[in-house]
Amino acid sequence: MRTPARYFISTFYKFQKIADPEQMKLFLEETAARTGTIGLIIIGHEGINATVSAPTMPGLDAFKKAILEKLNLTELMFKDSEADVAPFRRFKVKIRNEIVTLGTPELTPPEGGKNHHLSPTEWNEVLKNEKDYVMIDTRNWYETKIGTFKGAVNPKTDQFTEFPQFMEENNFAKDKKVLIFCTGGIRCEKGILELQRKGYDEVYQLDGGILNYLKEYPNDQFEGECFVFDHRVAVDQNMKASAKYKLCPHCGQPANTAIDCKRCDTHTLICDDCSNLTWKQVTCSKNCAYHLELHPDRKGERQAQPYEFED
Ligand SMILES: [Zn+2]
Ligand SMILES: [Zn+2]
Repeated sequence: MRTPARYFISTFYKFQKIADPEQMKLFLEETAARTGTIGLIIIGHEGINATVSAPTMPGLDAFKKAILEKLNLTELMFKDSEADVAPFRRFKVKIRNEIVTLGTPELTPPEGGKNHHLSPTEWNEVLKNEKDYVMIDTRNWYETKIGTFKGAVNPKTDQFTEFPQFMEENNFAKDKKVLIFCTGGIRCEKGILELQRKGYDEVYQLDGGILNYLKEYPNDQFEGECFVFDHRVAVDQNMKASAKYKLCPHCGQPANTAIDCKRCDTHTLICDDCSNLTWKQVTCSKNCAYHLELHPDRKGERQAQPYEFED
């Protein structure tokens, strides 16, 4: 019997001044080649934001060790998981102004500093024992659709840059406790600075985000699955790659409605929104939807790979 391939995955970030991002990019590419690592890393002058994967645990450990040495750190919160699908196809480093885009490059979290972080245990204590707080999901609407914390406010933003405006429009009481969370914690590191600038003193962020929480408290206050930006689509309560969702071939949202394409007979999953749209609800791809609309009675060639995650 063939043993299924394993992919060892780690998500991490660090706000730390990187003087020469180009030089860092070369270092990361060399290290990835040496250790067999794939993934997506965003770097900028303000730091590094990464999800990487290697086919063996020693390979992933070697990559982490190289990162720690390069950044001159003794520790870093690595959020680890495993999958039997490859989360990425290749290794890529992007250089950006901000390593997580809020549109506020002037707001960089203090190096190594803690800023109102709650551990998963502290987070649970507030959720279970306190009443007078508001908890806000800072992620995009398509991420929140498949899972979130019980009782969380959902801003329904398309992208993180809309979060400050959401807070402004809703005018939550500034003396009330505000809890914010995201996938791996990095968005909140910037989000909290923006809120503190607006005068929220009692704002707290979930340390390491949902991924860190699920590691300690599966099947507790977080319900559903946690969307991730790679081929896994989401991780379930046990941090395993989603068995339930694929990406919708029409729009890229999480999808779990099974169909057989009317044009090419490919079996696939489409999302709730597209299953309400005439041409999309019966087709497996943009291509098939387009051709079926033109020639409703013709069959077409099977679409082997209806959707590819852009990495
Ligand atoms: Zn869709
Ligand atoms: Zn098709």
